[in-house]
Amino acid sequence: MGIITVSDKSFEMAAPVLIIGAGACGCCAALAVKEAGREVLVLERDAAPSGSTSLSGGQVLGAGTALQRAAGIEDTADLLANDLIVKAKQQNDAAMARHIAAQSARTVDWLVETHGVPLASQQAFRYPGHSAQHMHATPQKSGAELLVCLHNAVAAAGIDVVLSAHVTDLFTEADGRVVGVRLSRPDGSVEEIGCDALILACNGYGGNPEMLQRYIPDIAQAHYHGHVGNQGDAVNWGLELGAAISDMGSFQGYGAVITPVMIHLAWACITEGGIQVNVSGERFSHENTGYSEQALHVIGQPEGVAWTIFDQRGQDIAMDLIYHREAMEIGAIRQVDTIAEIAEIVGCDSGTLAATMEDVAAMGRGEKTDAFGRDFTTKPPLQAPYYVAKITGALFHTQGGLDVDLDGRVLRPDGTALVNLFAGGGAARGLSGPADWGYLSGSGLLMATTLGRLAGTAAAAMTAMTAD
Ligand SMILES: Cc1cc2nc3c(=O)[nH]c(=O)nc-3n(C[C@H](O)[C@H](O)[C@H](O)COP(=O)(O)OP(=O)(O)OC[C@H]3O[C@@H](n4cnc5c(N)ncnc54)[C@H](O)[C@@H]3O)c2cc1C
Repeated sequence: MGIITVSDKSFEMAAPVLIIGAGACGCCAALAVKEAGREVLVLERDAAPSGSTSLSGGQVLGAGTALQRAAGIEDTADLLANDLIVKAKQQNDAAMARHIAAQSARTVDWLVETHGVPLASQQAFRYPGHSAQHMHATPQKSGAELLVCLHNAVAAAGIDVVLSAHVTDLFTEADGRVVGVRLSRPDGSVEEIGCDALILACNGYGGNPEMLQRYIPDIAQAHYHGHVGNQGDAVNWGLELGAAISDMGSFQGYGAVITPVMIHLAWACITEGGIQVNVSGERFSHENTGYSEQALHVIGQPEGVAWTIFDQRGQDIAMDLIYHREAMEIGAIRQVDTIAEIAEIVGCDSGTLAATMEDVAAMGRGEKTDAFGRDFTTKPPLQAPYYVAKITGALFHTQGGLDVDLDGRVLRPDGTALVNLFAGGGAARGLSGPADWGYLSGSGLLMATTLGRLAGTAAAAMTAMTAD
């Protein structure tokens, strides 16, 4: 795996634009390239495209979309940009956050109106840090459905996706220009394809334990809930080519993956007043700051587990999500009527748990303040029937990556762009700042869809100029 320097290398097969990775970023980039009138080939290592996109909740951020207007939701790019910047405590790339927020409505409108992706504005609940109902999702509200819709659009546009094509090496000339790639097939055969521009849409390094240990040791031992094929190839190729990388210690965690079945519990269970207790029946954090930072709070508890306790309000919203229904069906979420039954499930002293629940109720009535800083007065008190799930913290998605400009061009440390290399989605530096607490829900697919589209448009324009 690496960079092979060549001069005057010819290829039997070539495309103006090559894209590595057939997740949301690769699909959106490919659609944009094709729309700009250039040919494009997508190379995907898996036999069936999946990526983290298909494992995701499929919630796509967009501010000021036609769908929101039709639903009477007031939202603007400024609101979304501000949410992204505030969540990352002003430690992300603010210019990128503003640009991506400003382009987000166009991406959603384009996916819906031009490519028939059946997104709808989501209004059931508001994720932490969202100042408006920014989310959009397909009817099943699943990443798998989103990816199928994107691939249907890619197929309808006449774009070829080459499957079982694991790109191992990039061919570059002395000035860093990428002239092609080498890929390996499952039978061990090797193929080479030339290009005028390359888009890295092969996500981050969540599937690479060695890179996790190097860059994010705190989460390296946790369960990784993303796509294991994301091995950090973009970062490693970029580094070899002299690219800059940033925020490598940053990640999207999730503080509620049901264990041992490893299904992620809908976050509405928390936003609607739910709490988390440890094996002693005690709360240990402000659960509603954000699901990303909650991962390390949970992992820090005895045995690295906790129990999420919620009631019908969270349950009614969560049951709209396919993975939550699946967790209910297999009994990974239990419904009970009394605190004593919850204590039995947790294995803690029922008096301690009752005291925890009474504390929360008192905080909800405004009689007490929370030592962890959560305001419980905005939601009604938890009431029977209760729902309980044993959860752990997990890594969803790395947020560090290649520095890119506003068109997805990969940058060197001095800010100049590499000749013809682009990156988007999880391959590029995210909008989350340096750590786990800066991830605003939905910003993963935002960077995949919108930066993918922008990179595709820019790569197409670059190759059109080369061709002229
Ligand atoms: C459980 C979960 C829930 C999530 N929910 C949400 C959500 O609701 N909203 C949101 O915004 N974000 C969510 N995210 C984050 C989101 O999934 C990612 O940000 C997004 O999918 C990244 O898209 P991508 O196209 O960059 O990467 P991917 O979808 O991972 O696609 C990358 C592709 O590249 C391929 N690849 C890698 N290396 C090579 C190679 N060398 N050669 C060929 N192919 C290669 C991989 O096989 C993969 O198919 C969630 C993540 C997880 C894990």
